[in-house]
Amino acid sequence: MPHEIAVIPGDGIGQEVTPAAVDVLEALNVGFEFVYGEAGDETEAKMGVALPEKTRELADGADATLFGAAGETAADVILPLRSIVGAFANVRPARTYPGLDAVQPGTDLVFIRENTEGVYAGIENEITDGVRTLTRVVTEDACEQIAEYGFEYARQSGFDDVTIAHKANVMRETDGLFLEVARGVGDDRGAEYETALMDALAMHLVAHPEDYGVVICPNLAGDVLSDLAAGLVGGLGLLPSANVGEENALFEPVHGSAPDIAGEGIANPAAMILSAGMLLDHLGYTGEAARVRNAVESVLAEGPHTPDLGGNASTQDVTEAIVDRLE
Ligand code: ATP
Repeated sequence: MPHEIAVIPGDGIGQEVTPAAVDVLEALNVGFEFVYGEAGDETEAKMGVALPEKTRELADGADATLFGAAGETAADVILPLRSIVGAFANVRPARTYPGLDAVQPGTDLVFIRENTEGVYAGIENEITDGVRTLTRVVTEDACEQIAEYGFEYARQSGFDDVTIAHKANVMRETDGLFLEVARGVGDDRGAEYETALMDALAMHLVAHPEDYGVVICPNLAGDVLSDLAAGLVGGLGLLPSANVGEENALFEPVHGSAPDIAGEGIANPAAMILSAGMLLDHLGYTGEAARVRNAVESVLAEGPHTPDLGGNASTQDVTEAIVDRLE
């Protein structure tokens, strides 16, 4: 049976970079069956709902999902999609590539972000006029699951440095639990790790990213710190991500729908194609995943480059160059 891949391009440049990733997957001839779903702003305008039932079912039934981006409706699309695939871990690698200008060459980080709770649990209230509250949810089970995943990821990927990010000096109960449980997991495994206050960590990541490897984070911290790392390595067009569940997973670029450049055909497809590489790894096609990474690396080193990297190539030019270099 071929693996079934749900493809949800969504809005803006999602419509441009998702076909690029499918082109690369098709060129590998692994025999995936692609099934397409609609979601996002345009879908809401047309159908009255940003994530139709049919698209939910596709993501639920597929072996893995490739998702592009959603615009204004992002929270109504990506949060339920992550929950449909049961994703508890958001894996966000950020590394520099030879030949590209980066604020910090020598960056090689992977953020392992808790993906189900924290301030993104969606519990907000207007108490009275001018007063609104947000409930932050942190559970022992979710902390344990993300910490186990993070330490195991570091072990399997050969990272020596593991950092647990937190702000337990202020959020004593919630981040206190996150820190306590993550430390317990590290200690039980006999693993080496350090802990870091997330604000101080932000500063150190900018100054000395080479001191860090795998960073295990609560939900919001992982979102913010991984975008910060995007700035260090050359922009959002380079960062892929995986949303990993027990049995299912969804792969998407860290960037959004980029309305400022949507429709111009100049979006950098690297983040989306690298996300497809993570999908290949996840489904066990490790050789093909390495071919994708090498081809992307080669094009990033030698060009052609899209405007975000200082070039004038189109999404199509870069995609064709990557396909040509799939050895
Ligand atoms: P959204 O609300 O959908 O997240 P946004 O504009 O707030 O949209 P991004 O889409 O992540 O956030 O874009 C942030 C900036 O990075 C924009 O200037 C955008 O053009 C640029 N950018 C993001 N992704 C890419 C890409 N793949 N190629 C080139 N530039 C990109």
